[in-house]
Amino acid sequence: MKKFLFTPLLTLMLAACAKDAPRVDQRLIIIGFDGMDPVLAQQWMDDGSLPNFVKLAAMGEFHPLPTSNPPQSPVAWSDFATGTGPGEHGIYDFLRRDPETLLPAFSISKSIPPQKFLSLFGMELPLDSGEIINRRIGTPFWSAVEEQGGRSTVLRVPVTFPPDPIHRMMAGMGVPDLLGTQGTYTIYSTRPTAGSATSSSRSVRLRPNREGHIETLLQGPAHPLKPEAPALGTELLLDPEGEKVRVRLGDSDIQLAAGEWSDWITVSFSYFGPASVKGIVRLYLLSTYPRIQLYVSPIHIDPRNPVVPLSSPPDYAAKVEQRFGLYHTIGMPEETWSLNEGHLTDHAFLEMERTILQERENMFYDALDRHDSNVVVSVFVQTDRISHMFYRGIDPEHPLYEETDGEAREAIHWIYTEADRVLGETMQRMGAGDRLIVLSDHGFAPFRRAVNLNRWLAEEGLLVLKDKQQESPIGFTAVDWSQTRAYALGLNSVFINRTGREAHGIVAEDEAGRIKQQIITSLPGLLDPKTGLQVVREVFDGAVIYPGNANQDAPDLVIGYEPGFRASWQTTLGGVPISLIDDNNKKWSGDHCITPAAVPGVLFTSFKPETPLDSLQGIARYAREHWQASP
Ligand SMILES: [Zn+2]
Repeated sequence: MKKFLFTPLLTLMLAACAKDAPRVDQRLIIIGFDGMDPVLAQQWMDDGSLPNFVKLAAMGEFHPLPTSNPPQSPVAWSDFATGTGPGEHGIYDFLRRDPETLLPAFSISKSIPPQKFLSLFGMELPLDSGEIINRRIGTPFWSAVEEQGGRSTVLRVPVTFPPDPIHRMMAGMGVPDLLGTQGTYTIYSTRPTAGSATSSSRSVRLRPNREGHIETLLQGPAHPLKPEAPALGTELLLDPEGEKVRVRLGDSDIQLAAGEWSDWITVSFSYFGPASVKGIVRLYLLSTYPRIQLYVSPIHIDPRNPVVPLSSPPDYAAKVEQRFGLYHTIGMPEETWSLNEGHLTDHAFLEMERTILQERENMFYDALDRHDSNVVVSVFVQTDRISHMFYRGIDPEHPLYEETDGEAREAIHWIYTEADRVLGETMQRMGAGDRLIVLSDHGFAPFRRAVNLNRWLAEEGLLVLKDKQQESPIGFTAVDWSQTRAYALGLNSVFINRTGREAHGIVAEDEAGRIKQQIITSLPGLLDPKTGLQVVREVFDGAVIYPGNANQDAPDLVIGYEPGFRASWQTTLGGVPISLIDDNNKKWSGDHCITPAAVPGVLFTSFKPETPLDSLQGIARYAREHWQASP
């Protein structure tokens, strides 16, 4: 009798085991190359750089693919996943604002801390585990396929954290670091190295003794049981070792030369007896003694023992580690910000991209070789990150064009040829029954001039600063909400300071309509004082383009910048600088958060689709309806 009771459980366990899944030879394979641009792709297909893309286009289709509005990755990949628009899936921008505090917040996921605690020995012991939710609403097509009896593998698609409970998923953009942020790195230096106000870095000043010995700390997460206690830390020791630096951190005692990345180091933050929180980091030595400068990556969640779920099934993250070694787990591991702040070199950044690309390839080919899923989806974001950081190498009008040379100038061409190589490897793994879709979520444009949109709103009299102040730091700290009617936050969003919605709202419904019209009419008339160029092509009314207003987060207006312009970093976080438009002197030199018509993505297929694939949402619908079709 007992045996009988155990049988269903055993059956379920076996069913969940990939080895026992029947072989699938008729698959729909979808590869995303984030940010792949149709003009660049065509140019390099024409000159012979991308032979596999040429081959794929000849098998099926190749055309530009309209992007989402706004053309931002979390929005576009949510359109792709759900087959709906932002008004239904609720992701409108990288950043949302909390209408209570008017502070910017990450729009993709939300952590709900434990609600019940037991106070004991001065500690707060959580009685429930809290919760993390994906703020994207709706059923992604890979879950719909499973509801119809199929199996799905989905790897590193943006906005998939926490992972959906499907056959196999590795979460992508949205996975935090061990501090709960989207990636906070640390710079250790004997010289001051303050980052800019919009940066997510920490800097630690080093003070060597006479022998050059340095004792310092790597700061970790907050104490899990004592919210008031200082953050946890672990010891970091540095010593000169000839030309190199001896580094003792976590489980490692290594020597690093200047310009060298370390392997993964496991760090452990103890908080109570043997209890600890573990993470993994990589180091990069920028310069050695006497002016030592060391970069420590954000603390990644350890896939061998993740503190939050990284995958479905939960042990898949550890199995990938067993097979291929440790890997970057943060949703956005590419250190774009440290390169932008001058805390990493072009070369170090490109080496990191090679490592991450290799990790993603390992995972993807392994999943393909298993032949156990009807739908296999993998997104490679390296095309996007390199286009952001190295557009200065292909844009003669960018302020940094002249000084961008060598491998930096070649970087975008290089990553497109890498995408072609990944495509070739994939096509070799495809059987006669498989179909392939390759797409990007948006294209790319130059980013030469940074627009302080809140300054423009101030000049229009719609945003007012307190006590005649000239400017406001990020977070709107000097904004007088009692007189402010509109404010900009995020990459494309403008909100009206509405009564009954914003904490200090002053604008009633009928006036809101008039203010929106004022901005829709006036902003496209703005000319860049330096170049005379039009700054904004069009302003979209959120009420028109986002029917449904899911999550109640829809912006009132969406700004469609002209190519060459983008919201300044200060604008995205609610700052009001004195100037209206600044030169973009940063390495982050390409962008796509502009008017959607100017930055379409690409679509390639290995087959002639039964219905036209002419939108991101259409791909989700197609996958839902045709996942069982043959080529
Ligand atoms: Zn991007």
